[in-house]
Amino acid sequence: MEVIDRVPIELDAGEFLQFPGVRSLKGQDISQLIEKCRQLIEPKAVFKFVKVVGIYGDEVHLDTGHKLRSVVLGGMLEHGQKVALYVVTIGSGLERKASKEAKDSILRSWMLDKVGDYALDEASAYLKSYVEEALNGGVSVFSPGSGTGKLFGIDQQKVLFQILNPSESIGVSLTPGCMMVPRKSLSGVLAVTRRDYVACQYCPRERCDNRRKPFSGEHYPLGCEAEAD
Ligand code: SF4
Repeated sequence: MEVIDRVPIELDAGEFLQFPGVRSLKGQDISQLIEKCRQLIEPKAVFKFVKVVGIYGDEVHLDTGHKLRSVVLGGMLEHGQKVALYVVTIGSGLERKASKEAKDSILRSWMLDKVGDYALDEASAYLKSYVEEALNGGVSVFSPGSGTGKLFGIDQQKVLFQILNPSESIGVSLTPGCMMVPRKSLSGVLAVTRRDYVACQYCPRERCDNRRKPFSGEHYPLGCEAEAD
């Protein structure tokens, strides 16, 4: 198990303004806003490399003795492969500030929330490149509950949390409904895959500011593309 107590992230006003949904903020004093947020952000991560020791349909068996149930992991991972399980967070400071601000200014609170999204994105990008270096290749990101939740269910958070125990190392806990607290946290599996996987490709949601790839229809397991056409 590895813990990064202070994930090194750079927060840049110009880059933030390129972030989905915030272009309308051009002209506001973003540098000052980011400087204030910086003091409230505590980016931390915990991760563990595990080996896939068996794949039975949508059930992926790990060398820790745990099983992850997911159609997409079952279809894209390979027997014997090393993958990283992770949880990353920016802590609860900014979230608390944003909810206090909401009483006086919804816009101000929304801006703080967006800086939080940007900081979390930067922290997960750092972790992703760290893992890519260790696994010697580009990785796909699989997050429980992402998209429609049908390919990797939100309930699988429980397995990740059993293995990583992030409440102890980085202060992230799970509600009975499998939501993470602090809310500005991400979890999942990072794995080198033959085909790049982005959950947005299989998510029909309209008007999502965070979409990374256009919707391409239902997900079909590797080798089934002919049937999909
Ligand atoms: S389109 Fe939006 S909701 Fe759907 S997976 Fe992508 S980021 Fe998530």
